[in-house]
Amino acid sequence: MSQINNSKKVAIIGGGISGISAAMELIDKDINIDIYEARNSIGGRVAGIKDKLTGDEIDNGKHLMVGAYSNFFDLLQKLGTFKHLYFQKYFNVNFISESGEFNFSNGRFGKLSQLISLMNFPGISLRDKRNSIKFINQVNRGLDATPSESAKDILNNFQISNKISEILWEPLILATMNTTPREASGKIFLNILKLAFFHSNYSGRLVFSNLQLNKLLIPFLTIFPNEHRRIFLQKSIESVNKIDDDNFIIKIKNGEEYNYNAVIFTLTPFALKKIKTNFQMPDFESFESSPIVSLYLWSEEDFLKNDFYALIGAKFQWIFKETYNSLRYALTHSAADEFAMLSKSEIIELAYQDLEKLFSKFNRNLIYQAQLIIEKKAAIKLTPQTESLRPPQKISKGIYLAGDWTSTGLPATMESAALSGKHAAGNLITDLSL
Ligand SMILES: Cc1cc2nc3c(=O)[nH]c(=O)nc-3n(C[C@H](O)[C@H](O)[C@H](O)COP(=O)(O)OP(=O)(O)OC[C@H]3O[C@@H](n4cnc5c(N)ncnc54)[C@H](O)[C@@H]3O)c2cc1C
Repeated sequence: MSQINNSKKVAIIGGGISGISAAMELIDKDINIDIYEARNSIGGRVAGIKDKLTGDEIDNGKHLMVGAYSNFFDLLQKLGTFKHLYFQKYFNVNFISESGEFNFSNGRFGKLSQLISLMNFPGISLRDKRNSIKFINQVNRGLDATPSESAKDILNNFQISNKISEILWEPLILATMNTTPREASGKIFLNILKLAFFHSNYSGRLVFSNLQLNKLLIPFLTIFPNEHRRIFLQKSIESVNKIDDDNFIIKIKNGEEYNYNAVIFTLTPFALKKIKTNFQMPDFESFESSPIVSLYLWSEEDFLKNDFYALIGAKFQWIFKETYNSLRYALTHSAADEFAMLSKSEIIELAYQDLEKLFSKFNRNLIYQAQLIIEKKAAIKLTPQTESLRPPQKISKGIYLAGDWTSTGLPATMESAALSGKHAAGNLITDLSL
């Protein structure tokens, strides 16, 4: 039986990546920790979904990772599941349009790779290529954005044409920020480029998982709990009230109430709005959500040469091949405000039209199952305004905040969630002198 000398009690509200990350930071501290998760499983937005027809478990939409996800990878190391990831050798993406395929990479030829990639882009004028190279060079030299600049403003400053924006920058912005270039925070866009292309040759490479994403987190359910650390599923928190700096009362929806010395909220701004508190919380009202539409198609025959593509001039933006259990494809459409309003049959029809246009081997008659996931609140819209409003991980002594949307300097991703959990726990450790 483990010994505990300290009688401090901490509550973590939410069992997504940020909650799990905060909990793992506190695991070797002499304290009692209770985690409250509203759903009947951990993982939050990284959920697994069972397809009834095929019996396959699929991710709640395809998630991309890059080599720079050091905090998320650190978490997976602690959970013993890092070994299920596989890494590209260097950033390497195939783009496909009606006029053909082209490759953008960041490694095979060292720093020259981007230059070679740009030079090989079909249908782009020399002037456009020159401006793009100038832009990439300035990013390398530490280019920064003003707080009000959008990603589109920055591209405009370098006279990057709509054509090359649509082909190259827009898919990257949509995939990483789930926000259109016109709305996306310029600061975060530049941070992403610096990390992806100039931090090291390895930071921008894409990383994939051999397992469903939620399975990477499941060991937490056995590693974490003991007689001082508990995980409560299906316990939705209704209110948190402060008695003093060292004393908080948490009320669960079923009416039960418990006392804690500190609380870490790890919820989205949209879920936080619903929790009543008697203390000031950050401004949640300005945060808007941005939907992601994911479509999984099961096919009798393989129609993709490569494992994934960025799709240019199509309704869907990316396609990934998945071969575990059965052959299927995941198509994604980010910043999907309008797309998310369509019916399932309309979305499937648009996907078929995209695939018929881009892949000669695609045959809609060989598709035997389709699973559509519309996540209306997939992530926050990361505009220059919301970027400046992202709150820090400490509200006041005893009250901490984590979540992908909090202030991390990163887009609202799994890496941001993992980092925010570390920061929230770090602040708590200092304040409680643990
Ligand atoms: C379709 C889709 C695609 C994505 N693609 C990518 C990608 O390619 N790359 C990437 O890095 N990220 C991607 N993301 C984002 C990534 O999933 C999130 O950044 C990450 O999972 C957020 O973790 P979190 O802990 O901050 O929040 P969440 O996962 O939302 O966790 C919050 C938890 O709090 C619980 N909760 C809510 N209210 C209460 C309450 N009252 N009481 C108790 N518990 C409560 C929720 O049930 C949830 O489990 C994608 C997300 C979606 C939806």
